Amino acid sequence: MDTGDQLTRVRHSLAHLLAIAVKEKNTGVKLGIGPVIESGFYYDFAFSSGYSPSPDDLKRFEARMRELIAEHLAFTLAEVSPDEAHAQFKDEPYKLELINELVERGEKLTTYTSGSFNDLCVGPHVANTSEINPDAFAITHTAGAYWRGDEKNAMLTRIYGAAFATPKELAEWESLKEEAALRDHRKLGRELGLFAFSDLVGSGLPLFTPKGTLVRDLIVEKIQTLQKEHGYERVTIPHITKRELYETSGHWEKFKDDLFYVKGRSETEFVMKPMNCPHHTQIYASAQRSYKELPIRYMETTAVYRDEQQGELLGLSRVRAITQDDGHVFCRLEQVGAEVTHIIHVIKAFYTELGMFAEDKYRVSLSVRDMAHKEKYLGEDRNWAEAEAALEKCAKREALNYKRVEGEAAFYGPKLDFIFKDSLGREWQLGTVQIDFVMPERFGLEYTAEDGSRQRPVMIHRAIAGSLERFMAIMIEHFGGAFPLWLAPVQAVAFPVGGAHKEYAREVTDVLKQRGVRAELDERDESLGKRIRDSKLNKIPYLLVVGDKELASHTITAESREGTLGALTLEEFVSTLK
Ligand SMILES: [Zn+2]
Ligand SMILES: [Zn+2]
Repeated sequence: MDTGDQLTRVRHSLAHLLAIAVKEKNTGVKLGIGPVIESGFYYDFAFSSGYSPSPDDLKRFEARMRELIAEHLAFTLAEVSPDEAHAQFKDEPYKLELINELVERGEKLTTYTSGSFNDLCVGPHVANTSEINPDAFAITHTAGAYWRGDEKNAMLTRIYGAAFATPKELAEWESLKEEAALRDHRKLGRELGLFAFSDLVGSGLPLFTPKGTLVRDLIVEKIQTLQKEHGYERVTIPHITKRELYETSGHWEKFKDDLFYVKGRSETEFVMKPMNCPHHTQIYASAQRSYKELPIRYMETTAVYRDEQQGELLGLSRVRAITQDDGHVFCRLEQVGAEVTHIIHVIKAFYTELGMFAEDKYRVSLSVRDMAHKEKYLGEDRNWAEAEAALEKCAKREALNYKRVEGEAAFYGPKLDFIFKDSLGREWQLGTVQIDFVMPERFGLEYTAEDGSRQRPVMIHRAIAGSLERFMAIMIEHFGGAFPLWLAPVQAVAFPVGGAHKEYAREVTDVLKQRGVRAELDERDESLGKRIRDSKLNKIPYLLVVGDKELASHTITAESREGTLGALTLEEFVSTLK
């Protein structure tokens, strides 16, 4: 048994011990489910109304769990009949609901008993609690959670626990969590004045301030600059569409429950677009295309709308209006390799500018078919084989840190996903290149080949940053708000020491602005120390102090996040920035 497996058993067993501890103190409590999660486990409880466990209660549960561990309780597996299960869980309405579903699906019913506690469960568990290190777990916090994730159901109390193999790993996880809380993009976004939410506008609908908008624009501009040489052209589409577009693309079935519906004065049904690809196919289809025009490359930064459940929304990470840096290439199959190479170059350059494209900081997943189940994928076998080979060839030639993952391809084509590690070691899937044989087919896209025949183009979907909202959330947390110079909404702030220096400080700011530096003047009637502290809290890359000495010598005294740069002329300062 590997340790990962053992850790799963430990975590799962701790969830049961938590249920025991909670039940002992709250006799009327009803049990939901208690699964293993990435850093530990949780258990959902329905407490009698009005009660919710305090932090002290959580400590008491934790202490009781340690006692239970010390009792060396065994976990015993038993298979039970539906009748036995109904009898055993007659006072547990949520368990009964699960039992009925399992019975309906014809699945076996199993229970695990430890001490006097019996739970409906498939395991796995430790054989005995003596296998659990009592110092490598903690009960951490509670949250509200709808039964089975559905907001139509009752709200239960979810109690979370963290558990690891050793106390050292637990301590490391705890300190990462503290750091993550300090860097939480919701907190930093407010402090840095980047975005806001309004009850009148609605949840999941972020409002970007001038500074936040500048950051968004800088991201988009960077991507556009990097891909300029690859021939992308900007297009613009409306945000609503007839439902027929998605019926044709085949997305209707998949998305219809997540759409926002728009009612106009006519009978025609409209929806807010949940994606841009089908619209882009219609720009391609608006003219006769010849092989000479291909590849045709469209790009657009535009919002899509998905009606995420209220409970799933989280700051900028999960929103209802999602801005995509979207791009689509229509090309011949033999052009796929060159196009994918271009996209890889842009992804490499973009994440290099962010300091994230290092061997140990990213990985690429080359998602290909499951050859044993070829029938799951649409499109011709021969085309799939060629596209998969082209992607792998690109990944090799570009020396990407990639791994071939069989069975992970979309049903419409193979893809390359770029996964980056942030400064807290968390992984995020950001850039992506996806080959698509299906959408051109569905929309009957064509081009005239050299021999005059009508041929089907291949479509490539590509994203560099992905959703701008999610990307910003990740970047705010990755940099802890201290953006690299090119991404900082304000790059330098000038501080006149006293009233006599205001005019010169204003001149400094104006010159810097003319030279393309995003500079601001802080001439508030606050002490110099207070003004500098405020700018440091705002993570401004350069602070420029202007007093008697600087006025006389026509210089500034500059300080970066790394330390002081001393007295510089404006020219010297500008060349430092470049
Ligand atoms: Zn269990
Ligand atoms: Zn697309």
